[in-house]
Amino acid sequence: MNIIVNLAYECWIQVARLFNLKRRKALFVALLGRPNAGKGTIASKLSERHGIPHISTGNLLRRKVSEDAVFAAEWGPHMKAGKLVPDWVVFRVLSEELSKPIYDIGGVLDGFPRNVTQAKMLRRMLAWRGNQIDVAIYIDVDRQDLMERSSGRRTCSSCGRTYHITFNPSKVDGVCDAVIADGDSTGVCGGKTVQREDDRPEVVAVRFEEFDRTFAPLHRYYEDNNLLVSIRANNRMGIEQVLEAVVFAVEEVD
Ligand SMILES: [Zn+2]
Repeated sequence: MNIIVNLAYECWIQVARLFNLKRRKALFVALLGRPNAGKGTIASKLSERHGIPHISTGNLLRRKVSEDAVFAAEWGPHMKAGKLVPDWVVFRVLSEELSKPIYDIGGVLDGFPRNVTQAKMLRRMLAWRGNQIDVAIYIDVDRQDLMERSSGRRTCSSCGRTYHITFNPSKVDGVCDAVIADGDSTGVCGGKTVQREDDRPEVVAVRFEEFDRTFAPLHRYYEDNNLLVSIRANNRMGIEQVLEAVVFAVEEVD
């Protein structure tokens, strides 16, 4: 009798082990959405929740510029001018990053890929390390809502803190009320809050046009591969509510 119990127990442990091994496999999530859709915030919260690294190609490129003088000379001015770097450059920097062991558990890609070419590159890159994109989540926010977010945003010209005229206004209109620590003393910033050039509606509209043009084929690509989950969000929803929907979609595949 004891032998049977022990055997059953042993089997159960083996099954549990297999289950755990499966659970511990890498999880790669691609978070997609228009500029200002909240991808960065969602990605960092998701990364905290699931304990997998947050990968922002924008940050990777900026870090590369600060650490690699040859790269900085070649692409620094291009990036400063606000231009997108070519796909092959992004690919090089990203593949270098993804070769690190910290990504053995997966990663949350924030706003990448941006087009089908990048999606195919990413697929190959992940396949080399025996991984794949497990789910592509599209945070679908209406253009009008996004327009409201960016056109109402004000940025302090002194400390860089951001406000929103409706959702998060400063105490006095046009004046930054951030508390700044300076040595032992603290004081209120008092800088002038202004609308940044790239938050102007006509600039934002151009970025949306660009995004929509390349996104339609990407949307189809992930849909055809059965990897796409769309999550509708709007300005009435809190970030936590959007995060819950994203977490749910991720747990479905994890
Ligand atoms: Zn300020």
